Amino acid sequence: MGGKAFSLVTWLARAHLARMSNPSSRVGTVFLVGAGPGDPDLLTLRAARLVMNARVLVHDGLVDPAILAMAPKGCRMISVAKQRSRHTMRQEEINALLVREALAGNDVVRLKGGDPFVFGRGGEEAEDCFAAGVPVQVVPGISAAMGAAASAMIPLTHRDAASIVSFVAGQCKGLTDQNWAGLAGVGRTLVIYMGVATSDAIAEKLMADGLAPDMPVAVIENAARPQMRVLRGTLAALGPLVSDNKVKSPALIVIGEVAGRGDMMELKQVLEAVQ
Ligand code: SAH
Repeated sequence: MGGKAFSLVTWLARAHLARMSNPSSRVGTVFLVGAGPGDPDLLTLRAARLVMNARVLVHDGLVDPAILAMAPKGCRMISVAKQRSRHTMRQEEINALLVREALAGNDVVRLKGGDPFVFGRGGEEAEDCFAAGVPVQVVPGISAAMGAAASAMIPLTHRDAASIVSFVAGQCKGLTDQNWAGLAGVGRTLVIYMGVATSDAIAEKLMADGLAPDMPVAVIENAARPQMRVLRGTLAALGPLVSDNKVKSPALIVIGEVAGRGDMMELKQVLEAVQ
């Protein structure tokens, strides 16, 4: 408790100093805005309003061009696109950019795919802004898991199949060190973000934890976008499912009984066709 109080005081002192050194009297606000999985219709009203009125908009690579097109003429658009193998701007540089713009008096719309606080590094950006005395507002977005679940007709929970759902990051860094024991299995749904490149290792890791090789899996590529693909299979064959179909990022992997209920998707398509 004492330690926490001290760090808050230090933080406020730093923020105060940062603001004193600010040449402009106005400090802008940084809005960390979730852009959802792609479809502009899945923006919240607050996100849409902020984008439509933005003067400075900082976005990453996952944000759909149709959403960027909603920004007004004259809006300064700054891309900090980041992909697994190609970093165009380091996270510290992005944080510094947000702080610099806000201290110069600009409100900044920082647009991120999905939700800013789900594997979105929104926490890091908010911390650096607060440390510099910059106010932050967070506008939640529909995370890829929810977007994918809705578009692929995969209920993440279902009273007959799953009452626990977990989100994990599957990228290589630290994959073997992460303890996923108990997150997947009967009665549970595991949603893996950023797991396409490591799908083989993910399947091995989960089977080593005792998961059945025939546990259903679904891979949802480009969820909530016109080019969406939903592939289904079993845990043991997850690696080949991804590689044979040349699945590319962005894609999610869902593991659990709910992923095997492909008949719902078929039923949906049949009913839509006869409407
Ligand atoms: N903040 C984002 C996640 C960013 S991490 C969110 O809440 O959704 C990036 C990962 O999200 C991708 O590697 C992929 O696993 C997933 N992702 C994002 N958009 C997606 C989409 N439209 N379809 C499938 N997966 C998506």
